[in-house]
Amino acid sequence: MYRRNITHILVPLGLMLALIIGDHLFLKPSSVAPPSSTESNPSEAVEAVAPPPPPARNGPREEEVKQVRALDQAVIPETPHDALLEVIRDEIEKRNLSLAQTKLTELPSAALANEKVRPFVAILWNNLGLQQERLDGTPASIKAFKKAAALDGSNPIILMNLAHAYWEQRDRALNQDFLNKLIALAPNEPFPHLAMADLLQEQDRLTEAAKHLAQATERARQDPALHFYLASVTAKVRRADSAEARMTTRSSTHFTVKFEGAEDQGTWTTILEILEEAYREIGQKFGHFPSKPIMVVLHTKDSFQGATGSPAWADGLYDPTLGRVQIPTQGATVDTKWLTTVLRHEYVHALLHDRLGSSNGALPTWLNEGLAMQLAGGAWPDLDQALQGEVKILPLQYLERSWGGLPHDAATLAYLEANSATHYLIERWGMSRVDELLTAFKARESVATALQTKLFVSYEQFHRQWLDTFQQKRT
Ligand SMILES: [Zn+2]
Repeated sequence: MYRRNITHILVPLGLMLALIIGDHLFLKPSSVAPPSSTESNPSEAVEAVAPPPPPARNGPREEEVKQVRALDQAVIPETPHDALLEVIRDEIEKRNLSLAQTKLTELPSAALANEKVRPFVAILWNNLGLQQERLDGTPASIKAFKKAAALDGSNPIILMNLAHAYWEQRDRALNQDFLNKLIALAPNEPFPHLAMADLLQEQDRLTEAAKHLAQATERARQDPALHFYLASVTAKVRRADSAEARMTTRSSTHFTVKFEGAEDQGTWTTILEILEEAYREIGQKFGHFPSKPIMVVLHTKDSFQGATGSPAWADGLYDPTLGRVQIPTQGATVDTKWLTTVLRHEYVHALLHDRLGSSNGALPTWLNEGLAMQLAGGAWPDLDQALQGEVKILPLQYLERSWGGLPHDAATLAYLEANSATHYLIERWGMSRVDELLTAFKARESVATALQTKLFVSYEQFHRQWLDTFQQKRT
């Protein structure tokens, strides 16, 4: 028996859930007279509310995790090859990893043909992989786990380790066949069901995804925080499933757009044009194109709130848990200018999520929103123009996590600061350095470390220089 702790994998997922925030600063279309783009007034903003973040959890101690993932290599099977195996085992224990790997690779085929030796060599590869992962992260370990699984595909611990490595790397080898095998081998584990749900969700098979999520939830009962989190994701997927059940789906090369049957063909065509233009233009500026079609769900204004669980005022949101841009539309009277800004803004969030994968939560919210505003365009007043008199700036450090709890005025200020700081970042360092920052966040570096290693400034310096630039503009 064994029990894997998957908290370290789920925490980034949880952070994603906390990141969902309705974008609310866009102008509301008005059936009487759509406001012109220069009239953007942030005082119209309403408080941003995020769903409750997953409960805080005490991260498991690393050692605890390693322990259940490692396999016992103490007893070497008695075969003509035992001396060789002992040497390799000792090199792994001494952390001479590249030497151990070379010796494992060079094992004679006669040794691997031995039925007692083969599973033991698989154990050695598994344990080598764990050490490599500890030192250099998942990319360094995946080869060792693959070797282990190839030698002993019936060992659930080895397959779980490989599955986690695939998951971290967003590797397509974590497919349905692999997961079905893993579910059969490790029937009490929540993780394979969670990964299966993720896969099905990506294929827009929400009903089946919800079933696997419920199974993952059931298997996570020993961990109340994880259980709560999975239960809330299950509910969310079920809600989306029923909201989208009667929708019509139309796909283009880069987007899948869903809308209620009553939505007219004209609106759908307009939306697709806006999205394809965003795909080309923002992709070029940003140097990244999404790896798979992006799902955009158009709700009627009335169904939006119930379907997305977002507050009525929200003008759109990108939900990383569901992998969807969700927009409330106004039917045939839709304001194209408003729609363009909202769709482009949410598209940038989707693109950033695609770029960062499961590390999306490491991206500070001020940069996530700032890039969405900078790349999407639209009518945002400059921070210096918007601020009258004495205004206290919210330090960017406070704007790294969810903005859900911010009061109305602070949320408005947060968006304007994010826009201003990101504008400064792009002006001063250029998009290619911003892209390097994203690489650092993908590796889950902190903001301070990322700025220091990629821009060679401390967080404090960056902050002060940004404030100086905009103070100068004000005077
Ligand atoms: Zn946004």
